[in-house]
Amino acid sequence: MRRTESGLSSLSQQRPVSMEAYWMPFSANRQYKAAPRLLVRAEGMYYHDVDDRPILDAAAGLWCCNAGHARPRIVQAIQQQAATLDFAPPFQMGSPLPFVLAQRLAALAPAPLNHVFFSNSGSEAVDTAMKIVLAYHRLRGQGQRTRFIGREKAYHGVGFGGLSIGGLPNNRKDAGPLLAGSDFLRHTLDLSRNAFSRGLPRHGAELAEDLERLIALHDASTIAAVFVEPIAGSGGVILPAPGYLQRLREICDQHGIVLVFDEVITGFGRVGNAFAAQRFGVTPDLMTLAKGLTNGAVPMGATLVSDAVHAAFMQGPPGAIELFHGYTYSGHPLACAAALATLDTYAEEHLFERAIELGDYWQSALHSLRGLPHVIDIRNFGLIGAVELAPRKDAPGARGYEVFERCFRDGSLLVRCTGDVIALSPPLIIDKAQIDRIVEILGDMINATG
Ligand code: PMP
Repeated sequence: MRRTESGLSSLSQQRPVSMEAYWMPFSANRQYKAAPRLLVRAEGMYYHDVDDRPILDAAAGLWCCNAGHARPRIVQAIQQQAATLDFAPPFQMGSPLPFVLAQRLAALAPAPLNHVFFSNSGSEAVDTAMKIVLAYHRLRGQGQRTRFIGREKAYHGVGFGGLSIGGLPNNRKDAGPLLAGSDFLRHTLDLSRNAFSRGLPRHGAELAEDLERLIALHDASTIAAVFVEPIAGSGGVILPAPGYLQRLREICDQHGIVLVFDEVITGFGRVGNAFAAQRFGVTPDLMTLAKGLTNGAVPMGATLVSDAVHAAFMQGPPGAIELFHGYTYSGHPLACAAALATLDTYAEEHLFERAIELGDYWQSALHSLRGLPHVIDIRNFGLIGAVELAPRKDAPGARGYEVFERCFRDGSLLVRCTGDVIALSPPLIIDKAQIDRIVEILGDMINATG
């Protein structure tokens, strides 16, 4: 392959000759290919596009790159691992790093979450959690607990399990009947009472009582688990009122229901602790992780499991396989190497604390956008933010997309739009001047949008 002067492969730095063959995920393929936005390299807080414009990253890629881009320690770890042990079969066979990484994650997580099952994505981490929960109940003679409770507007990936407990209609509607028996809590977004809250919204803790209603409807003995994102991301950055998650925990405990936190986006410092579970003081029985686990550099998911749930699997004869589940790439050496270097980087640079240190500044900066045209809500917590725009009549999502597109094209700023919500989740290495810049550009682009 030809190399450029910098040693980069030329194919990775140029417009592709044809864009026909690649079917892009979650994208308007024809619209995109008519006016592509191509990123070719990244460093620190910035991407560079194919025209070599620096693009300020206000999205950490896609909630992934919490330590910023191209961090040398992570790059070196991946390179060295690729040259040393590229792959090892993970079934009835092992290599050291998954063991090392699992210990590190157990030490980082709330006390009882001491067991780690590796996968390759958030979707797989969620489906793994669902299978572990079902098997757990079966092992305890409660195999009738097969029903999952999710939440409206929730996103738990695109596996058939995650779709079954997800609450975004567009994702579900073509996927058939999905898992039988799932039911849903209401979401906690309430603009009539909570618009422009700073930090957690005041109202809405009582929505946790929905779980009591579903238990009354279905009977607790049929319910396997409740899955929630502590802060819902893809559904539009939806925050819980104080007490809401605590109450879910209490109700689950009363009724023998497993509580699972999907921390794929809230994990790894986004809210000021390693995990939202710690920030909110609520410990789930299982936790699903991905994205920031490897700083986005190599795909990886993980399902953390409590001692109590794990112990149920370790009762049979020692020669028995405890869980018939796994992926060819579970605990892949490159992913483990990337994750370990990522955790070192987070610790050494105290990045988890950044979301607290910068939280007030971030909050004030974002809320300065209040009063701009179409802005109907601003939400923030840790280093997460959202600016919600009023939808255009008959074209929901179009205004959000226009702001996103203008930010990239005219503002050299990467944000994420999910419907008419502009979601912000910058790398945790961000400084105050960069926060100001994000808000300035976003404000200009909202003003320019009709
Ligand atoms: N759960 C949550 C909360 C997520 O935000 C995502 C991804 N945005 C997923 C699961 C799925 O992760 P992946 O895209 O890696 O499958």
